[in-house]
Amino acid sequence: MPEASLERLLAPHPRVRAARVGAPAPGGSCVVYWMQRAQRGVDNPALNMAIAVANAVGKPVIAVFGLTADYPGAQRRHYRFLVEGLVDAAEDLERRGVPLVVRLGAADEVVPAFAEEVDAAFVVGDENPVRVGRRWREAVAESLKVPFHLVDADVVVPTSLFPKEEYAARTLRPKITRVRDEFLKPIPEIKARHAWAGKPPGGEEIEPDALMKKLRVGGVAEVPGYVGGTREAMKRLKRFLDERLGRYAEDRNEPTPYCTTELSAHLHFGHISPTTIALAAIQADGPRESLDSLLEELIVRRELAINFVARNPDYDSLAGCPDWAHKTLAKHADDPRPVLYTSDQLERAETHDPLWNASQKEMTLTGRMHNYLRMYWAKKILEWSPSAEQAFTVAIELNDRYEMDGRDPNGYTGVAWAVGGKHDRPWPERPIFGTVRFMSYESTRKKFDSAAYIKRVEAIEKGRMQ
Ligand SMILES: Cc1cc2nc3c(=O)[nH]c(=O)nc-3n(C[C@H](O)[C@H](O)[C@H](O)COP(=O)(O)OP(=O)(O)OC[C@H]3O[C@@H](n4cnc5c(N)ncnc54)[C@H](O)[C@@H]3O)c2cc1C
Repeated sequence: MPEASLERLLAPHPRVRAARVGAPAPGGSCVVYWMQRAQRGVDNPALNMAIAVANAVGKPVIAVFGLTADYPGAQRRHYRFLVEGLVDAAEDLERRGVPLVVRLGAADEVVPAFAEEVDAAFVVGDENPVRVGRRWREAVAESLKVPFHLVDADVVVPTSLFPKEEYAARTLRPKITRVRDEFLKPIPEIKARHAWAGKPPGGEEIEPDALMKKLRVGGVAEVPGYVGGTREAMKRLKRFLDERLGRYAEDRNEPTPYCTTELSAHLHFGHISPTTIALAAIQADGPRESLDSLLEELIVRRELAINFVARNPDYDSLAGCPDWAHKTLAKHADDPRPVLYTSDQLERAETHDPLWNASQKEMTLTGRMHNYLRMYWAKKILEWSPSAEQAFTVAIELNDRYEMDGRDPNGYTGVAWAVGGKHDRPWPERPIFGTVRFMSYESTRKKFDSAAYIKRVEAIEKGRMQ
């Protein structure tokens, strides 16, 4: 592949944002790639930019990852998944001539210190719309003394093209459709041309058990067999294409067995790019309805969630939901609640509803809950809580603590949809919910084989107790 000129690499592009403008400092000794959300060494446009800039100015590239034990809400299970992913990332980066250095600490401290230590000429990072990611980027931009560019590496269509908060999928879909094919292209694997001379500066041993020991994090237990990393993501993608894509449109709401990709956690940690999944599904030549349905979830719905979190500072509270929902929930705030549960009762799955209890247990035991049940699960939390505000908080807390894909824009959006009518429309009025969409036990349990689902979760629980 011909090498791009520095001028072209630094020219404005919707996927790239200069947090500190400028060309690589001539005296600097390398380009630093700050790996943040896109935790992978393949199909990674941010890594590509770092390598291309380094090649253009004849310098080596080095990657750094700040591993903090204090990431808000993260539990032991999330850390295990993350550190497993670092092993694959390090291997893939190495193949491309880029050493990965993992340092303990928050990125806003680790990255500027590292850049100074290695005498960086230029720093490239990746985007992440959640609050912590934004705060880190701002702090890093403030501390760095060299140019710092950010690449929107984990979306198909760059977030910058949608500068306002979208109202619903129907407003975003046509905008995405217009430009999708311009961005949905294979991401080339370019290699660093100038090797790092000598031993890379000190970092942690990139080995999951060693890193877990160093982190000393507690919280919710690990999930045996739910493995993080690019290799596992590619295995899941292959399983999906070989066995599930054909019936995705028809069976995606059926939880026993799942026929979806089960890639949301790998997407959350950036172990796989959405572009990789979308292109592989297009090439697999499955039924048109299944492909359309997958691309709707993977691109339109996922990027609608990213738009919400990127553009609405109240994305994780009821305040971020539309006015019509606030009004109707306020009107019904004093409606009698025949059934009320505390957050502890919900956490322990101690409700009268076997389907809800099964979904809660599926989540706590396996780190996953099927999409259809997630909707029902959150709607019932609204029905059984003293207020919509409390329901919102409890749903987010449980989701983020137990789901392997928790703390993601999709989760904040899913809860906002279920509790606060986000991206939805008013439905016929009823107690507690007002005009926010309601889901009943009777109709939900008939939508899929709920008896088989409850049995499956019971079997998992029994297996864990033995
Ligand atoms: C209350 C509630 C909470 C949720 N919490 C989370 C969460 O914490 N993390 C999370 O990633 N998703 C969350 N979702 C969205 C959705 O349920 C999951 O993304 C999906 O179930 C993941 O399974 P999968 O990877 O097999 O999906 P697939 O059906 O294979 O879809 C492929 C990808 O498309 C995206 N996607 C699928 N459904 C949606 C959707 N409804 N909205 C946005 N993107 C979607 C995901 O990235 C998913 O991995 C939540 C939904 C609700 C209603």
